[in-house]
This record gives sequence, C-alpha cells and structure tokens, in this order.
Amino acid sequence: MKTIGLLGGMSWESTTSYYSLLNRGIQKKLGGFHSAKIIMVSVNFQPLEEAMRQGNWDKCQKILIESAQRIEAAGADFLLLCTNTMHKVAPAITQSINIPFLHIADATGKRIKESGIDAIGLLGTRFTMEEDFYRQRLEDKFGLKVIIPTPEDRQIVHDIIFNELCQGTIRDHSKNEYLRIIKRIRADGAQGVIEGCTEIGMLIKQHDTSMPLFDTTTLHVDQAIQTALTE
Ligand code: GLU
Repeated sequence: MKTIGLLGGMSWESTTSYYSLLNRGIQKKLGGFHSAKIIMVSVNFQPLEEAMRQGNWDKCQKILIESAQRIEAAGADFLLLCTNTMHKVAPAITQSINIPFLHIADATGKRIKESGIDAIGLLGTRFTMEEDFYRQRLEDKFGLKVIIPTPEDRQIVHDIIFNELCQGTIRDHSKNEYLRIIKRIRADGAQGVIEGCTEIGMLIKQHDTSMPLFDTTTLHVDQAIQTALTE
C-alpha cells in the first residue's frame, strides 16, 4: 500500500473528514485491522485565511510549498491538498515536488463525466466559484458547463463557509439557504451540484435533496484510496 500525503488544516474541520474517510475506506477494502498509511502536515489556517482575504496568494503559495516539501521528505508517495480553494496555487506546488499531486477537480470532474452529466452547478468559496483555476479545468478537461449562483447568493455561500463551517458551526438556516440556492441553479439548468468546498458535506447531505451531489472531499478520498492500492 502506498503512503498518502495530506496537506490539511484548511480548515481542520474537513481534514478530520479526510482522515476518517481514508481509514474507513481502506479498512472496508482490505478488512481486518488495515488502515491508511498517512503522512500529514496540518497548517495553522489563520495566516492563510488572512493572506487569502488580502489577495496575498504568494504568501499562501510559500507556506503550502514548504509544507508539501516536508510531506514529500517524510516519505509520502503522492499528495492531496485538502481544500478546493488553495488549488489556485496548485501549479506552483506541483512544480516544487517530485511526487504525484492528485488534483481535487480531476477526481470530481471524472466522476461527473461518468455519471453522464454535462451541466454542473458549483458551490464553494468566492475564489473557487468565480476564478478560472477551478471552473476552467472542469470545462477544458471534462467538457462540463459550469453554472454558479448569482452574485448575492455567492456571497451567502462564501460567508457560510468561513463564518460557520470552517468554525465547525452547523445551522439549520444556512442549510435552508444552501438548499434554496441549489434549487435556483437547478432552474438555471444544472443537472447536479459540486460541493466544491471540503466543508460543505458537513452541511448538505445527499438525503437533503433530489439533486445529485458531488462532494469533493469524498471524491478526492476515493481517488486517493484507489491510488494507494494500485501497485
Ligand atoms: N476548505 C475550503 C475549500 O475547500 C475553504 C477553506 C479554504 O479557503 O481553504 O475551498
């Protein structure tokens, strides 16, 4: 079994999901007392959150490259960056390490394509919903049409992520807001929705809606398990 490298802490709430899903997944596949081989660096989110807010992506990049290199030096066979948003600096991280990098949008795009969906809604931070680094990859690599909420709804989705989900707070009102927004993007033509922030799965589960959901945390984990168990 290969050793999985995790660059987490953004936020740690979703990194705990990665950790338990990876271990449960390996246990389910191999049985007995098997569990995932993991090397993790979990960063302090505060300076990264500040840097993002100020648009200082160079600072984010520097911290994440250093962390990725520590994970490689410690012996991981491949790397997962446990956040969608920070994939904005994924090209620089990939170039600074020698182990494979499993891009979260690739794991997601592949599964959406397999399900036969062409037009997909995207919920995530403002950066993920509005900038090219994520949407463009889904469009170029997987031929998907990506539909995002209105500017007001994007602000609501973004604020709930940072002010609540990253702090471990789950509110019924926020859940209803997300469900309302999902309905709206369905009316705009989306056939499914990407939970394009690693904390959204804590708030909205598949049984909450008839809209097919693509949870990036789960899909990233599935890809990691498959890679870890492939010789
Ligand atoms: N975990 C979130 C994501 O998947 C947001 C926090 C961050 O900006 O890293 O995008």
